[in-house]
Amino acid sequence: MPEQPSEESIQKMRAFVDRYNAKFGTFVSPVEGVTEQVILGLAKNVDEIGRPLCPCRFYPDKNEEIKHRTWICACDDMQIYKYCHCLLFVNQEGLPITEYLPEGHEGREIYGLVEDPIPEKGRPLKNKGPEREQERIDRPS
Ligand code: SF4
Repeated sequence: MPEQPSEESIQKMRAFVDRYNAKFGTFVSPVEGVTEQVILGLAKNVDEIGRPLCPCRFYPDKNEEIKHRTWICACDDMQIYKYCHCLLFVNQEGLPITEYLPEGHEGREIYGLVEDPIPEKGRPLKNKGPEREQERIDRPS
């Protein structure tokens, strides 16, 4: 597996990020290099396993992980809570939105309350939070 992902996958992920931001009311990070690093990680996973698995987590077995949708970008946290722990989808200041996270979620502990600047957009699965969480818990280990 080459270190650098294919140009095709990089372009695909760049286009996905632009589309997602426009549609769901988030932004790329103003901090240089952050967006590109995450895009490269996603593109690498596309090349390696065929899906844009979140690059900011460790998986014992990536091929097993992609049988579930939990960490396929845009992941459950993003689609339910509008929270991206990789800082790929953020507010204009480069902070992840934490407003909708449940109490005790790591994002609230790390960043405190970060309000959603565009609440009328995003969270396409906002009504599926408990259901998705249960699916995750019920997964065979
Ligand atoms: S945290 Fe979620 S939305 Fe952010 S890069 Fe990872 S999979 Fe994508």
